[in-house]
Amino acid sequence: MSRTQFPITLVDSQEIAPGVRHFTFTTTQTTPFTFIPGQFINLHFPVNGETLQRSYSIATLPHEGNNTIELALSHVSGGRASGYLFNLPIGHNVDASGPFGRLVLREDETPKRYILVSTGTGVTPYRAMLPALAQRMQAQGTQVVVLLGARSPGELLYQDEFLSFMSRHPLFSFYGCCSRVRSDPERTHERKGYVQETFAELALTPGEDIVYLCGNPHMVDQAYQVLLDVGFEKHGVRREKYVFSH
Ligand SMILES: Cc1cc2nc3c(=O)[nH]c(=O)nc-3n(C[C@H](O)[C@H](O)[C@H](O)COP(=O)(O)OP(=O)(O)OC[C@H]3O[C@@H](n4cnc5c(N)ncnc54)[C@H](O)[C@@H]3O)c2cc1C
Repeated sequence: MSRTQFPITLVDSQEIAPGVRHFTFTTTQTTPFTFIPGQFINLHFPVNGETLQRSYSIATLPHEGNNTIELALSHVSGGRASGYLFNLPIGHNVDASGPFGRLVLREDETPKRYILVSTGTGVTPYRAMLPALAQRMQAQGTQVVVLLGARSPGELLYQDEFLSFMSRHPLFSFYGCCSRVRSDPERTHERKGYVQETFAELALTPGEDIVYLCGNPHMVDQAYQVLLDVGFEKHGVRREKYVFSH
């Protein structure tokens, strides 16, 4: 973990859903940028003479020698980070620090199943975990379920990647939970409503399942309460809320 700031350079930015961009940065450091999948970095940038700091989960699929940092940012209307970062020209630098955070897979545990729940850009930590999850599925027979909540199918970030991963890993399932609009005809991985409404079909098993919750604070609080109500202990649920900065 580094609290020291270091510059990263924007090399690419693509719209991946309405109002959401996937940013690719490279570090200019000689030592490779290392992180544990699930962690986030802080970006530091000037706005009106003030230096602001915002946190973003690392979306990068890790592989050796990789010096890129990928992030998915949801545009917040009037948001100061959104205004700055969505207008950052390719080739420009921004200061970063980290990685930080404990929403990571732990070495010393072997649950029967991981249930990884998210809304919006909260799915990015799970994208970064895919290679590690593949190893656990193969070595330990761990099942993995990813639930992603969005308003409509077009906002299910990285769904093609998750569906492709599912087609190659029989122990992996991906559900896209759409609260407002659904495909017509509905696709087999789509579900109606909020992510926590899909819990009912998963036969949740406290003591065997470990659940991760990431994204919108309301989702995290509501899903956490549902899990406690069905008998999960606090240590069986890991949470990361995308709380707003003030
Ligand atoms: C650990 C952590 C990880 C995070 N990871 C990500 C990530 O991967 N991708 C990502 O896009 N964001 C992520 N966030 C949220 C991010 O840090 C910023 O809060 C977000 O980008 C808004 O910053 P802003 O400066 O644009 O808005 P601000 O200037 O801080 O806010 C402007 C106004 O919009 C409101 N607001 C702020 N955010 C939202 C929102 N999401 N929805 C509705 N209203 C809002 C505020 O209350 C305020 O009134 C994360 C937060 C945390 C704590």
